[in-house]
Amino acid sequence: MPTSGHNDQPHRTHRLGGVLSAKPSPAVTLTGMNQSPNEPPSVSSFTNPVSRATVVIVGGGISGLAATWQLQSAGVDAILLEARNRTGGRILTRDNQGTSAGGMNAQCDMGPSWFWPGQPLIARLLEKFDIPFHEQFSNGQILFQAPDGEVQQLAQPSPMTGALRISGGIGHLTDRITAQIVPDTLKLQHAVRSVRLVDSAHPDNPAGQNTTGIEIVCNTPAGSAVYHASRVVLATPPRLAAEVDIAPPLPEAAIKQLQQTPTWMAGHAKFFAVYETPFWREAGLCGTAISHQGPLTEIHDASPDSGNCFSLFGFVGIAPAERAKLGPDKMIALAKQQLIQLFGAAASDPVGVHYQDWSQEPFTANPSDRVPQTRHPQYGLTLDFGPQWQDKLYFISSETSYVNGGLIEGALEAARGLVSRLAPQSGVSERVGETKPHAASMGWDWL
Ligand SMILES: Cc1cc2nc3c(=O)[nH]c(=O)nc-3n(C[C@H](O)[C@H](O)[C@H](O)COP(=O)(O)OP(=O)(O)OC[C@H]3O[C@@H](n4cnc5c(N)ncnc54)[C@H](O)[C@@H]3O)c2cc1C
Repeated sequence: MPTSGHNDQPHRTHRLGGVLSAKPSPAVTLTGMNQSPNEPPSVSSFTNPVSRATVVIVGGGISGLAATWQLQSAGVDAILLEARNRTGGRILTRDNQGTSAGGMNAQCDMGPSWFWPGQPLIARLLEKFDIPFHEQFSNGQILFQAPDGEVQQLAQPSPMTGALRISGGIGHLTDRITAQIVPDTLKLQHAVRSVRLVDSAHPDNPAGQNTTGIEIVCNTPAGSAVYHASRVVLATPPRLAAEVDIAPPLPEAAIKQLQQTPTWMAGHAKFFAVYETPFWREAGLCGTAISHQGPLTEIHDASPDSGNCFSLFGFVGIAPAERAKLGPDKMIALAKQQLIQLFGAAASDPVGVHYQDWSQEPFTANPSDRVPQTRHPQYGLTLDFGPQWQDKLYFISSETSYVNGGLIEGALEAARGLVSRLAPQSGVSERVGETKPHAASMGWDWL
């Protein structure tokens, strides 16, 4: 069990200050589209502004949100279709509302927790929105739990030393980006099921307009909804993109690439316990525990920097199928029991708990993701969608990035690459400047 000793590392809170401007400019159309008055108008100029746009983006995770915002800022009319009733995708920050700790605002990041130094795009966004961040608490010893449950205290640094956390949770950032999107152009609960090229013979196109457009059909709570665009951007996890009914079909090789690209962390689950006091810090521990017994295999301090509550979170090591059989209540009970084994009786009375199993989320994972990854794959995708979809269909999830693939920074790199291609007038260049693949997550064995 933890030894006594006080280890009160104050969170160093950073603010980058300053604001980058992203002024909306007058509506312009995309390069390469028909614009001469003698030529047929692009699909965006059809009459209903709500269901037609030059670009339709599918997926309101951070890649789709950033792309929509930046395209709109460059004057491109764009609509964002999101399947869930919230934006953020794999980014999800929960507070303690609805629990006995309501009002404590524990800001539990149920998806990503960290970003890293050397990731300029996320740093610039935090600067623009004036969102502070702080270092992962890492002052104190770590715990190691052997397969038989025995706990040892080790004087070695937490593997997440130096990682950075966003004050208010990462959802704070996606909320701020969401707020930049032109009202009425974000459509929640719009799950796209098909994307088709349509020509002038299609009954939906106004008579006499000889143009090829794209028809996007979604499932909504009210039934089906149809959108039309000149270009479509899929900003969904790769395996889910492969499930969209696309006509004419994509080349087999592109479909295989999408199907074979695992969605980072889609097979994982996270558990949070929120406490009134940081009893582990008071015992000389940084909160990190590595367990070969489980059910949590890797635990960290996840306290907000507000200082009004404290939390530990853990990645669950039980396989998705087994988790599904046990169910959330049993998983929570097992995780709480393990925290007591590791940190002592003080862990027995959390003021709030949260559990999130991403493998059961149909807009993140499909059955192939239920084999959890144990290492960070070497991501990066260059997809050839064939001549018919050339300059019409794009794919930009984080997994497309060669540098920070799978990570938030990779999603922002993908969005930036898209904007530089579709809206060169934005001045956004594909080059992101100094960036380096971070070491922590990529080299870490998920036990
Ligand atoms: C548990 C966990 C821990 C992680 N830890 C970190 C970390 O510490 N640091 C880090 O940098 N990254 C981490 N990641 C990865 C990070 O969350 C992702 O890289 C990033 O959020 C991906 O953003 P995205 O926009 O590419 O995809 P997503 O966030 O997956 O967004 C895709 C969006 O598409 C929507 N969608 C899906 N299908 C459809 C459809 N048919 N129609 C309409 N919309 C659809 C989804 O609802 C979703 O909103 C973690 C992820 C998880 C799950």
